[in-house]
Formats: sequence, C-alpha cells, structure tokens
Amino acid sequence: MKAFYCAGNWKLNKSAEQTSAYLQLLKSSGPQSPNEQEEIIILPPALVAWKVSEGLRDTNFGWGGQNCYFAAHGAFTGENSPLILKEMGAKYCLVGHSERRQVFGEPDELIANKVRGVQQHDLTPILCVGETLDDRRWNRTQEVIVRQLKTALQNADAQKPLWLAYEPVWAIGTGQVATPIQVEEAHTMLRKGLAEWNPAAAERTPILYGGSVKSENAGSLAGLKNVNGFLIGGASLEVPEFLKIYKTAREARA
Ligand code: PEP
Repeated sequence: MKAFYCAGNWKLNKSAEQTSAYLQLLKSSGPQSPNEQEEIIILPPALVAWKVSEGLRDTNFGWGGQNCYFAAHGAFTGENSPLILKEMGAKYCLVGHSERRQVFGEPDELIANKVRGVQQHDLTPILCVGETLDDRRWNRTQEVIVRQLKTALQNADAQKPLWLAYEPVWAIGTGQVATPIQVEEAHTMLRKGLAEWNPAAAERTPILYGGSVKSENAGSLAGLKNVNGFLIGGASLEVPEFLKIYKTAREARA
C-alpha cells in the first residue's frame, strides 16, 4: 500500500469563518498534485460541512463526516444522514470514534449498523477501535480491539471500501503517543483480524494510527510497515502543523 493518508478530525472546533480561512491556506500552501491532495482528508463538524463541501469542490482533497446515523432519513431528530453527506461530496465518515463510544454511549451494535449504513451510501467508513488505559494495564488490548473490529464488521460489505483507525483511548488528546512497538503490534493484530473476516479486504484496507500525533513524532510512526496513515485531532487544527505532519510522514515513507 503506497499512499499515506493524513485525516484531520477537527472534533467540535471551527466556525464557518475559520473554516474558510483554513481551506484557503490549505489550498495555497498544501500539495498541488491531485494524488497528494487525495491523501489529505478533513473531517469537520457537521454544521460547517457545507463550507468544506464548497471550499474543496475543485480540488482532490478529501473530506468526510465525524459521525452519521445508519438510516438516510426518517424520524431521527438531530441525526446526520449518510445520503446527504454523500450528496454534499463527502467521501468518508468516521464511525465509532472513542468520543462517540464514551461520551455519547454508542454501543457496538449501533456502530455495526453505522458501518453498514455508511457503506450502503457509498461513503468509506473509517472505523475507530482502541483500548483504554485499564485494558492495556490488564493486558486486554488484543481482546478489546479485535472484539471491537469483529462486532463492527458483522454487517459490513467486504467488497466495499472500509478503513480502520487504531486509536488507543489513553493517547487521544493527552499528548501521550503510543510507542512504535505498541502501534505496530496493534496494527498487525488488526490486519490479522481483518484477514479472518476477508483476506482480500485485509490487504487493501488502510489502517491509520491516531492519538497525539504531531510533527515531532510523525516520522517514527509513519515509517512502520502496517501504518498507512494518521488520524489527527488537535494537531490538525492549524494548517502549517497539519501539513508538516504530512510532509514528515511522506519523507519517512520514501
Ligand atoms: C482524534 O480525535 O481522533 C485524535 C487522535 O485526537 P488527538 O490527535 O488530539 O489525540
């Protein structure tokens, strides 16, 4: 797998005005080649998605939702539709981010339905899995991430694209990045879990690492065999740092 992706999860940050300024700078100072643009993905809050849809229309930069429901329409007050995301030009949608699991109580079954719903509307789900600090201390990392993977894939379509993000909960937003050994171990387990589901999908599925990625630690993680990209929260909020991570990662892969 040659490409190396950098997906910026803005979480609940940026106004419409700040979004426009960000996109201007990304377009003027970011890569100009279509292939490189495709490797850079923005995941904005739903309420500014229209700005991103408009701002990136004539480029190859990718974008997607941070969350959506599995149904396209109906009596689901407050939810986002995968169909509308697709119509707006999104390519991706995060599913099962640890903040959705922990802050909003999303259970595995709902996450499995969302993976299916997102795929049915021809968006690529970026399925997030990851252990808590307690899981790691009690040696449950493998059990937890493989269970999250397998339950989330129970209704998924192996013929359609799917991406994974390994995001140890203890590393998200804490400044405490996982070590290269921990990351490679987890990604290898996930690749094996994917192969048990569908061998062909295992070969083509990008597995991103997320958790306190910054330009200072990007090089040592991007060089790992089973890491195909990063999911970046805080450090994606400023264009220069986000692009520095992307450039550092590309250099490490060269
Ligand atoms: C994330 O939100 O998915 C994330 C990895 O955040 P951060 O990079 O800030 O740890």
